Amino acid sequence: VLSLRGATKRFGGLVAVNALDFDVHENQVLGLIGPNGSGKSTTLNLISGALPATDGEIVLRDRDITRLPPQAIARLGVARTFQLVRLLPSMSVLENVMAGAVFGHRRRWGRAAETHARKMLDRVGMGRKLHLGIGQLTYIDTKRVELARALAGEPRVLLLDEWLAGLNPTELEEGVALIRSLRDDGRTIVLVEHVMDAIRSLCDTCVVMAQGTKIAEGTPEAVLSDREVIRAYLGDDD
Ligand code: ATP
Ligand code: MG
Repeated sequence: VLSLRGATKRFGGLVAVNALDFDVHENQVLGLIGPNGSGKSTTLNLISGALPATDGEIVLRDRDITRLPPQAIARLGVARTFQLVRLLPSMSVLENVMAGAVFGHRRRWGRAAETHARKMLDRVGMGRKLHLGIGQLTYIDTKRVELARALAGEPRVLLLDEWLAGLNPTELEEGVALIRSLRDDGRTIVLVEHVMDAIRSLCDTCVVMAQGTKIAEGTPEAVLSDREVIRAYLGDDD
C-alpha cells in the first residue's frame, strides 16, 4: 500500500532520515523501531505530510504523495497519532473524534459523522466519556481519543507514534490488546514503538533505524537478535 523510496529529511546539517526505503503491505503491521533520535517520528511526519521531504518519494497505492499537504494525504487514506498527543482542547471528546470523521479518508458529515465517532469511541473504551472536555481526561484516555479520531476516517494506513509509551502495566496490556484487535481487523499499521514485548507480539515485520538510516529489516525475532541492532540500541558509537 505504502512505499518509501529514498525518503530523506535534512534539518540544516543534520540528516534525520537518510535515503530510507521500505514497503508497508496491506493488512500488515510494520514496526518502525530504533533508539531515541534515530528518525522514527520524522519518518511518520514525512509520510503524513507534516514535514516536507528533502528528497526521495513516498507512494500510496500508486499515487505519489510526497509533495501533498497533510489534509490531502489524510483524505487519500493516511491517519496518525502523535508522540505528544494533539487534541483540540476547546472541543469535547466526541467533537474531536467527529473531526476525524469529517476530515478523514472516508468522509462523513453531521449525524453520520457523530454516529461513526460514537462507534469508534466505543471501540477504544471511551463510549461513556463522550462529553468530557480534553482537559478532564487521564493520559491514557487522551491516547484513546486520539486513536479513535485516527480510526474515524477509515484510513488505509494508520501511523502510531509510541502509542504505548508512558502507560502503566495494566494500561499497557489493554493497549496491546486494542492494537492487536485492530490488526485482527486487517488494518495496515506502521507502529513506532520502544516496548519490545509489544513489538514482538504485534509486528509482522520490522524496520530498524539508527541515525536516520535503515540498519535492518525482517521479522521481529530476526531483527531483535541482530548484533548490529543490539549495538545500536546500546548506543555504541564506533
Ligand atoms: P524518539 O524515539 O526519541 O522519539 P525518533 O526516532 O522519533 O526519536 P526523531 O524525532 O525523528 O527521532 O528525530 C531524529 C533527529 O532529527 C533527532 O536528532 C532530532 O533532534 C532531529 N529533529 C527532529 N525534528 C526536528 C526539527 N523539527 N528540527 C530540527 N531537528 C529535528
Ligand atoms: Mg519519536
